[in-house]
Amino acid sequence: TLPHQTDHFFKSMMMPVLAPAGVQEYIDFGVHGYAMSRYSGCWVAFKALADTVETSASVDVDPDRVQVVIPEDFAIPADGLNIRWPDPPLVQEKRLLNQKLYAALAYARANRLNRVIIDAPDARLGIITSGKSYLDVRQAFDDLGIDEALAAEIGIRLYKVGMVWPLEADGVRLFAAGLEEILVIEEKRQLLEYQLKEELYNWREDVRPRVIGKFDEKGEWAHIGRSDGTVDHGDWLLPAAGELTPAMIARVIAGRIERFFTSDRIQARLAFLQAKEKSLSERLFSIDRVPTFCSGCPHNTSTHVPEGSRALAGIGCHYMVTWMPERRTGTFTQMGGEGVPWVGQAPFTS
Ligand code: SF4
Repeated sequence: TLPHQTDHFFKSMMMPVLAPAGVQEYIDFGVHGYAMSRYSGCWVAFKALADTVETSASVDVDPDRVQVVIPEDFAIPADGLNIRWPDPPLVQEKRLLNQKLYAALAYARANRLNRVIIDAPDARLGIITSGKSYLDVRQAFDDLGIDEALAAEIGIRLYKVGMVWPLEADGVRLFAAGLEEILVIEEKRQLLEYQLKEELYNWREDVRPRVIGKFDEKGEWAHIGRSDGTVDHGDWLLPAAGELTPAMIARVIAGRIERFFTSDRIQARLAFLQAKEKSLSERLFSIDRVPTFCSGCPHNTSTHVPEGSRALAGIGCHYMVTWMPERRTGTFTQMGGEGVPWVGQAPFTS
């Protein structure tokens, strides 16, 4: 079991993926999700991160807040795109690949699900981001003292993507025009970055910017020679493993604009972030504050293992028992697969 990233899974099932940033967009994109599904006939996926789901906010619930725009530049076939009976598999496949996904793209375009948030007359650096990462980018801007006016002065163009797959190409190309470099800021593995590169690769050479994100301009496939004679992949710029934080993003943004802009505030903030990171890496206390079950929770007693026995955990609160050595609970596996480790162990037991 690993930390997962379901958007790639949705992509493999050819479901358009909406990525809301914050609670208000859960409502707004929820309305768009239903409307897009009805228009295109597609199942529509919705990205839900703990950071944005397990939070609260004041939201506008006016039923007229989201005005759905029906695209005028897409021809819906006479028999429509929606479910019908009978509907043989190969006919469904053809409809999905030839029409439904393009209808979803037309919907995203008409409703401006992806849009430029900050623009600059002479933009040099473009930042493309989505969902929680968009909020992290805004926090990083605040931390660096970059407001919208300064961003425009520096030459930063910020593009926020609401539908992360498939990535709508017309908007991307408008965003990319005139830029020297595009920094892709997205959590975990590349979803936007690979699509962006594909959409720009065969575009006009005179306007095609450099694209960086998970790796810098040397790229992932740079063969970096190590001192022991081995060769490694390129160095991570915004790593795919773990979480991105506003501090990590602030450092990368400051690094990318350094060639043409810096300020005392940015330098001071970078020094502060570096000092903070250093102090966090040096532990002052050796005591761990390990979480445990709520008082009154049945897991407090049900996870006691009989003398001479051992247990394995699954996903859920009882997973915390793996941090209690006296309860002899070895490891865990994903929901629904809890029996399999026992099957695997069977040949080694008597
Ligand atoms: S199951 Fe989890 S949330 Fe519920 S009472 Fe137990 S520890 Fe608390």
